[in-house]
Amino acid sequence: MLLYPGNHKYHMGGKFEHIQTLPEDLYVMRTSNVSDSEYGSAVCAVREVVALAQARIAVHDFGVWRQRDYFQNGQLMPHGSVDWYIKIGDNPQRRQVNVWPVLSAILKDPNQAQTRHFDVLITGNDLYLGNTNFVVGAALATATIISVVRFRGFGVLTQECIKQETYHEIGHLFGLPNQNRSGLVKSLGGHCPNECAMQQGLAVPRDWINRANARAESRRVFCGTCANDLQVRSRLPRASILRSG
Ligand SMILES: [Zn+2]
Ligand SMILES: [Zn+2]
Repeated sequence: MLLYPGNHKYHMGGKFEHIQTLPEDLYVMRTSNVSDSEYGSAVCAVREVVALAQARIAVHDFGVWRQRDYFQNGQLMPHGSVDWYIKIGDNPQRRQVNVWPVLSAILKDPNQAQTRHFDVLITGNDLYLGNTNFVVGAALATATIISVVRFRGFGVLTQECIKQETYHEIGHLFGLPNQNRSGLVKSLGGHCPNECAMQQGLAVPRDWINRANARAESRRVFCGTCANDLQVRSRLPRASILRSG
């Protein structure tokens, strides 16, 4: 699901600005209810997309990210842990987490001012947005949240589905599919019409399993157009070069 593609920068107050630079760092983290193998699948898929992009982006694995003083006086400190980010969107009535406040809060991470970076949060909580029943992942500018919970219980396919979903959301962070392309499918944001990780899946887990099978057969994560756009995009000027210039 695409809320805003990765070539947008978030400003305090909720404004998005189109940008032409990519962050050079990518932070990946998980909540404590994600298993090692689930998380491993996601991190593996993140690294694959970065490799396919031929991008000089450093992947930093923070695991269950918690600052030393993340919990004080019985309170989770703002921007101090993955737990706080999830709490921001927690809806106890639905027993789900609303992705919009979580992603908005992640984009306001004070550390973004020092080091502009991508954020990837993997969670075992169920997610929703607006009037959807649930979503398995969403991308907003340079941040994405991905839930593994709907993919549990399918044996080895669980890992393949998590990878499939991760390819998709990381693709969004990197600006896929190119929103200026003709023939995009307008479903929960613009999506690729080809056999590709950037297609919009609708039936969980069926569409994810089918796509994982197609990927195994073709040995391709993205269609030719998206693979090309991914590399073009990763050749954009580096943020640090523009800063110093
Ligand atoms: Zn999407
Ligand atoms: Zn595609």
